Amino acid sequence: MPTFARPRVVVSKCLGFAACRWNGAAISDAFVRRLADHVTFCAVCPEMEIGLGCPRDPIRVVLADGERRLVQPATGRDVSAEMRAYASQALDAMGDVDGFLLKSRSPSCGIKDVKIYGGPDRDQPLARGEGFFGEAVLARFGHLPVEDERCLADPACRDRFLAGLLAAARK
Ligand code: SF4
Repeated sequence: MPTFARPRVVVSKCLGFAACRWNGAAISDAFVRRLADHVTFCAVCPEMEIGLGCPRDPIRVVLADGERRLVQPATGRDVSAEMRAYASQALDAMGDVDGFLLKSRSPSCGIKDVKIYGGPDRDQPLARGEGFFGEAVLARFGHLPVEDERCLADPACRDRFLAGLLAAARK
C-alpha cells in the first residue's frame, strides 16, 4: 500500500480552530474537519496577531489616493503597515509549507472577491480583490496550492487542491 507524505497546510484560525472572528465567532467547515486527519495544520489569525483583539470593530480594504489601505472605520485606525509587517515576518518564518487554506472574502486572509471600498464609510464596494495577508501569501507562495473554503466546497476545486498538496509534500 502506498504511503504519502503528510502535507503541512497553513489555515485561517477562524475555520474551526478558534473563535477569533471580529464578532467573536468561529466557522465550522466540514472539509477542514475532514482534512485534519490527513494534514498537519498550522493555524494563524493575522488580525489577532497584530493586536486587534476579539471581538473587535471590523476592518475593511479601502482605496485612498489610488492605494489600497486596511482600515478600521469605527476607530479611524489604519493597520496597513502592521498587517504588511506581520505577513512578511510570518511568511519568512513559515518553514516548509505545502499549501494554504484561507478564509474567503476576509480583508486580511481573502485571496479573491474581497470587497474594496472607495472610503471607510461607503456602503458599496468599488471592486473586489485580495486581502492583505492573502495578497502576501499569493506573492510569496503562489506556486503552491492556495485556496479558500468557499472554492473548496466545489469538488473540482477540492480535487485540484488535494492533488497539489500531495505533489508539494512529495518534493
Ligand atoms: S479571516 Fe483571518 S484574520 Fe479574519 S478571523 Fe479568520 S483567521 Fe483571523
